[in-house]
Order: sequence, then C-alpha cells, then structure tokens
Amino acid sequence: MDVLIAHGGASHREDLRKIVEKYAFNAIEEENALNAVIKAVMLMEDDPEFNAGTGSNMRVDGSIQMDAAVMVPGDFGAVINIEYVKNPVLVARDVMLRSPHMILAGDGALKFARKLGYEYYDPSTEEAIKRRERVLQKLKNGEIPSYYHPQFLAEFLGDTVGAVARINGEFAAAVSTGGTSLTLRGRVGDSPIIGAGIYCGKKGAVVATGIGEEIMRRMLSFRIYNRIGEKCLEEICREEIEKFGDIPVGVIAISDEDVCAISNRSMPYAIVKTQR
Ligand code: ASP
Repeated sequence: MDVLIAHGGASHREDLRKIVEKYAFNAIEEENALNAVIKAVMLMEDDPEFNAGTGSNMRVDGSIQMDAAVMVPGDFGAVINIEYVKNPVLVARDVMLRSPHMILAGDGALKFARKLGYEYYDPSTEEAIKRRERVLQKLKNGEIPSYYHPQFLAEFLGDTVGAVARINGEFAAAVSTGGTSLTLRGRVGDSPIIGAGIYCGKKGAVVATGIGEEIMRRMLSFRIYNRIGEKCLEEICREEIEKFGDIPVGVIAISDEDVCAISNRSMPYAIVKTQR
C-alpha cells in the first residue's frame, strides 16, 4: 500500500482540506516517493492560497525570501532565502541531486537556479501585499507585543506546505515556505533545517509546520523520527506537540506501519492511499 500525506500549514483554513486532498491524489500517481512529495508541494506552491512559491509571505521590508527542502534516506537538499523563482522545492531537489552540496542560500542559491535554467518569476500576490500592509499597520499602532507573544505567534503564522510519502516501501519528505510574516530579511525558519522542519530515514519521514524558531529549538522532526517504533506514531506526535503548549505547531509523519497528521491549530491535510 502506497501512502502520501500532505498539509497546507498549521493555523491555515480547514476548508482548504479538499484542495490539499486533490493535490495529494494527483501526487501519489508519481512513480516514486521523492517525485510524489515534490509534486504535492509544487501544486501547493503554485496555488496562491498557500504560503509557498506564489503567494508567499513578505518580509517586513517587502521582499519575498523562500525556503524549501527535500529529503530521502541518506540524502538532503535545501534552499534558504531564495528569491524570484517559481518553485523553490525543485531547486532544493536539484541541490540534492545535481550539486555536491546540501544547502544553498540567498544569492548563491539563485545563481545555481539560473544556471540550471530556472527563469525569473515574481511570486508576490495582491493578497501578500495586503497581508504585509496589515502587519505594518499593526506595528505602527503598537498592537504587536513581541515576536514570542503567543497572540502574535497565532496571528502571523505562515501556512507552509509539506508532504511525506511511502511508495514501493521507500520514504521521502518535502517542504516549502515563504516563512512567517513580520520577519526580518534573512530570517530562516525550521523548514530548510535538517532535523527541525524535515527528516527522512529508513524508518520513516516527518515534516513540521508552525513557529520555526520553536520547532528548531526542539529539533522536532528528528525527535519524532528517532522515536518511531517506541509506540504508535499518533501518540508520539501528540506527546511532542503537547510540549509546545500554546505555540502553534503541526506535523505529518509516516513509518512502515503507521501514519499521523496532527496540529494544535486547524491544519488542512490529506492522507491518501493507493494499491499499485
Ligand atoms: N515553519 C514555518 C516557518 O517558521 C512557518 C509555517 O509552518 O507556517 O518558517
């Protein structure tokens, strides 16, 4: 039985579940786990409803810097703060498969992408511009207390996208994000950090969403991966998420026998299965 789980971000609208499901069904048709998770993430990057690729959040200075990563057992690729490409997840895949490196950042990631033929693309949308204006207005009014205030965290979260899959017994994971809003240019979240926002090995695959700083602090994806086999995945993920208290977080995870999608906020997700 092949399985793919996709999510559209912790704190995102529950009614997007149908769309996520449609993309997940489309993606599981791919012939291997890596292509399947990339396809699921690409479809969401191209849909402006999600904070990844087209529709990404803007930084305080108005720029859009995107993070993405892919992982299979024993290999990893990521781009950090890449600008002006349509599908960061594809560049992350190429860092893994076509460069000697694991992570490329900023200007170097963009140069690498252009060398491989990725064309100029502006991912900004009217909605993202309005979102930034709302944030700046709140800042001006002194309505935003501090970056770590739970109220702030709940209001300005991202809607990152991610997918994990087991196809023909092989695991893969992928993630892409425009980051949380109201962040400085250059800020890096958990998504492109191995073990924090994403992990995949022989036992399974895990992708996280939520406040990147907190997810990194706890190495959430690796922590869950490490516990696979200890008890059922649902229980492991629930225990790890409870440690976040009121801080928004969500995970999707898959192992040989088990699947789990869980968040302490609303999180549109889909678990799709197919028999080949
Ligand atoms: N984890 C992402 C970040 O901190 C945001 C999100 O999941 O929505 O960049």
